[in-house]
Amino acid sequence: MLENYQSPWMDEELGIMRDAVKKFLDKEFVPVAQKWDKQGFVDRDAWYKAGQAGLLCASISDEWGGGGGDFRHEMVLIEEFNRANISGFGNGVHSGIVAHYIEKYGTEEQKAKWLPRMASGEIVSAIAMSEPGTGSDLQAVKTTAIVDGDDYILNGQKTFITNGITANLICVVAKTDPAEGAKGISLIMVETETVEGEGGFQRGRNLEKLGMKAQDTAELFFDDVRVPKSALLGSAEGRGFIHLMEQLPQERVIIAAGACAAMETALKLTSEYVKERKAFGKRILDFQNTQFRLAECMTEARIARVFVDDCAMRLARGELDDASASMAKWWTTQKQCEIVDTCLQFFGGYGYMMEYPIAKMFADSRVQKIYGGSNEIMKLLIAREI
Ligand SMILES: Cc1cc2nc3c(=O)[nH]c(=O)nc-3n(C[C@H](O)[C@H](O)[C@H](O)COP(=O)(O)OP(=O)(O)OC[C@H]3O[C@@H](n4cnc5c(N)ncnc54)[C@H](O)[C@@H]3O)c2cc1C
Repeated sequence: MLENYQSPWMDEELGIMRDAVKKFLDKEFVPVAQKWDKQGFVDRDAWYKAGQAGLLCASISDEWGGGGGDFRHEMVLIEEFNRANISGFGNGVHSGIVAHYIEKYGTEEQKAKWLPRMASGEIVSAIAMSEPGTGSDLQAVKTTAIVDGDDYILNGQKTFITNGITANLICVVAKTDPAEGAKGISLIMVETETVEGEGGFQRGRNLEKLGMKAQDTAELFFDDVRVPKSALLGSAEGRGFIHLMEQLPQERVIIAAGACAAMETALKLTSEYVKERKAFGKRILDFQNTQFRLAECMTEARIARVFVDDCAMRLARGELDDASASMAKWWTTQKQCEIVDTCLQFFGGYGYMMEYPIAKMFADSRVQKIYGGSNEIMKLLIAREI
């Protein structure tokens, strides 16, 4: 029933892309997904394969080696990864976030240096905002990047960084002027090959998480790490916070799109299961409780889909306002957690077994309310418009 709905932004070209992505994931990623979950990271060669298949930097201009698409292309990727239940491949951060910072704010030299290699999978990127002492309050970051001759000297600590173990290009949020709040923040691009091995840059633990097991999420340490001044993203210091505020709505719609796809996948799996499984001589679907609860969930999933489709189309046109992005992020992720939990219940004890995809979906869903700006912060941002 949910599959009959066609998003208004879909067209023939995107349909062909969707089929190709689905085939690629079924062949290359699905067979190794459980192995990735167990080892706690995605194999490095998966990035090269994804690059070859055109899954990386799909919405970056072809001038810079990207796919030349727009946000709708990212939507297709997010949806198909969710449908395949592949939660560890950090392409949302890599292609959906970091590549866009570089394309929008980077110098011509920076774009030429990094974007084509990000599109091929040679570079895996991360964005390091959060620190042990601060996540929601980004103005309070303590990491510093202080000028010393032709270089910056980086000091500080980051945590919870997606792709943190794998990344070889890290966009670090740091204070170039520690006396200032937001105005002192800049984005410093650290090419890890140039600083690794000198002792100053260290990757910490690959953090053990409740869900998203295959995604490497790490601590990073900077102790007098020297990077050239050309590592500053863009040409002016102190604009980092503005750049973050401009790009975070896209990150929020990426999360919301993942939430919609997860709800739809959970409902599809559950609809199939309740038609098969029997209790008291009836199918689970024949109990009115099942029918009513699934009808409610399907209604909410559809409302979420229509709203997020609208946000995605407005984002692709450059017209999405911050409050709508925040609304989409908090509401869809809240509904994702509720709906996946409801669905799991219909699987009974099997729902709690990791061999059933719904169990993985349950564990993966929880973080959606926390990262990308917690849902409480989303409500603060919306309330500012009152
Ligand atoms: C799996 C995972 C991946 C992540 N990936 C990245 C990444 O790639 N890069 C990165 O930089 N970060 C990443 N994060 C970090 C994430 O963005 C932060 O955890 C998040 O922003 C919350 O910050 P915090 O953990 O410091 O919580 P805190 O800021 O300490 O907040 C704790 C609680 O207080 C609430 N709260 C805080 N301030 C207010 C307020 N003013 N009003 C009401 N309630 C408030 C919050 O909503 C939260 O519930 C990731 C986190 C996880 C778990």
